[in-house]
Amino acid sequence: MSSRPTDATPAWGEGFPAGLDADAAERVGAQLRELYRRHAGAATDGVVSFYPPEAAARRETFGLSGVHVGGARISLGDCRERFPLHSISKVFTYALALEDNGRAATLRRIGVEPSGDPFNAIIFDEAQNRPHNPMVNAGALVAASLVRGDDAGEKIDRLLQRLRVFSGNPDLGVEPEILDQQLDSNDRNMAVSYLMRSLGMLDGDLEANLSVYLSACSVTVTTDELAMMGATLANDGINPLTGQRAMPSEHVRDVISVMLTCGMYDAAGQWFYDVGIPAKSGVSGGIVAAIPERIGIAVYSPGLDVHGNSARGVAVCRDLSTHFGLHLFTPSHEPAS
Ligand code: GLN
Repeated sequence: MSSRPTDATPAWGEGFPAGLDADAAERVGAQLRELYRRHAGAATDGVVSFYPPEAAARRETFGLSGVHVGGARISLGDCRERFPLHSISKVFTYALALEDNGRAATLRRIGVEPSGDPFNAIIFDEAQNRPHNPMVNAGALVAASLVRGDDAGEKIDRLLQRLRVFSGNPDLGVEPEILDQQLDSNDRNMAVSYLMRSLGMLDGDLEANLSVYLSACSVTVTTDELAMMGATLANDGINPLTGQRAMPSEHVRDVISVMLTCGMYDAAGQWFYDVGIPAKSGVSGGIVAAIPERIGIAVYSPGLDVHGNSARGVAVCRDLSTHFGLHLFTPSHEPAS
């Protein structure tokens, strides 16, 4: 387990957004540390599984990071522990598919409707002959096929290049052990791929396409890096720390919109109702959230609820949203702390 820089972390306050003085920054930092401690100590009710099952050994692992678009950062707990993106990668694969193909062509191939079904369900939008959305496996497999590149290697390289800009970590890469594990338990994704090809939704070399999709799933990040990725989305596609653009401005809204409507598997509706911020989860127990023009947030805790979302992650985000008035529809007259 990584070190826990809980109280010693000095980052919050550095480059703090204009309008917040040092006292206010300190108050927000103290509130966040208190919130972290409360959730770190709480029983993880609602945990029904771990992916893979061996992740149960890390049930207490809990990292929480935030990056303001102005550059201020906070890192709490296991914020330097690495974990695979899994489904969180779908956000960034979709961003690149949009960049490479444009909005209309991408939309013809992948819908933007929440499916209301589990992420690996073998169901499609039959009326339009396309996967329901890019945040479920079927849609992400089509998005991977839309990424430009002569072969799987080139597509993966281009994806990695973008992920590095999003995160600000030039060394971000695919973890071979995780990729092997994914390739060994891939029957369902194969089934979805072959079925989609038979229906005319997907074409080309399906095994190569699966390796693109699964490589993106197997890129490991820390919550510090993931919060930066969220902040880059929140900052119109520009990494707030490096100033580098990770994706075209014109598609940021599209990506954040599908996160909002489809990002939390078949709990997307409940999430929006309770938390009200665009987010995406992955089965490793990570969640990234992006609030446009404000903040990127990342949580990691591997215990999963019935939907496959991090149980502690959902609880923390619900609390953060209530405490800081982050829900998109928080009335402006309601005082946020
Ligand atoms: N790699 C996993 C899969 O394709 C990702 C799923 C997820 O995070 N929900 O099955």
